[in-house]
Amino acid sequence: MKRIGFIGLGIMGRPMSQNLLKAGYTLTVYNRSKGAAEELASAGAKVAGSPRQVAAESDVVITMVTDTPDVEQVILGAGGVIEAAREGLVVIDMSTISPKVTRAISAKLSATGAQMLDAPVSGGDKGAREGTLTIMVGGPEAAFSDCLPILQAMGKKIVRMGESGAGQLTKLANQILVVGNMIGVCECLVFAKKAGLDQKLVIESLSAGAASSWSLVNLGPKAVDRDFAPGFKVKLLQKDLKLVLSSGDELDLALPSTSAAHQLYNALQAAGSGEEGTQALIKVFEQLAGLR
Ligand code: NAP
Repeated sequence: MKRIGFIGLGIMGRPMSQNLLKAGYTLTVYNRSKGAAEELASAGAKVAGSPRQVAAESDVVITMVTDTPDVEQVILGAGGVIEAAREGLVVIDMSTISPKVTRAISAKLSATGAQMLDAPVSGGDKGAREGTLTIMVGGPEAAFSDCLPILQAMGKKIVRMGESGAGQLTKLANQILVVGNMIGVCECLVFAKKAGLDQKLVIESLSAGAASSWSLVNLGPKAVDRDFAPGFKVKLLQKDLKLVLSSGDELDLALPSTSAAHQLYNALQAAGSGEEGTQALIKVFEQLAGLR
């Protein structure tokens, strides 16, 4: 069984690494701030002092950190994975980051003999806890086949999309749907409220019909209950939308609903909700509707 290293024990990384332990893998973990690794240590993981040490003690290193510069830092920076990269090492980046930078990091790792897969995920903190994530993979086919059992310990639908960067591009396509759905959920719930309907009953009835979505079923009830605790933080969604819009620019592509969503989320961030979950968008729609 391959020895696995895991870097980044946030909302997603913690349950994903727990699922790897449950599947029987030997795990070495690293988190920038102390404390997050303790729970994993008591479940049997070894705690490393740097990404370099994680790589030295692993056959496969998984990164699940915030943004493009963070992945660059833990892989290419001082004390980073690249310092222990070698023939046979596979690095799987499961964060959502720039496809272009992904290709550049992959090329730098290749020069050491190591290989890289980009494998961003969809399914939220719930999918991470339940091991039911959708995983969209780019990179060499042989490394993908070798690592498939590892990905299967964290996800249910796992698809190789093509060469390096193809996983990240697919995740950006996913985010276009995510925000389109979220705008629909907010408009629907505000409409229901103004029309004097019971919002929870609206969600219950529409969840069984053709207009249902993951956002409606999982985030709709939270929005109605004023539960804005993050599964997926507004500031992380905004990071993804910037990546979508800049890829759209490169492709000479109009993305009107994604652009509108980005603006509406800007308004939400300006109101101080950047650390809240994406369902907090309901507050912007309530304000537009004169509801608060
Ligand atoms: P999170 O809870 O904010 O956790 C981020 C993790 O990255 C933390 O462990 C943080 O360490 C670490 N980190 C950030 N910058 C770092 C750096 N420069 N060096 C070392 N460690 C660093 O975020 P999350 O929700 O788990 O999201 C992680 C990734 O998954 C993001 O790319 C996000 O877009 C993607 N994603 C999230 C969801 C979701 O529903 N949450 C769904 C799909 C995809 P500290 O503890 O020290 O801050």
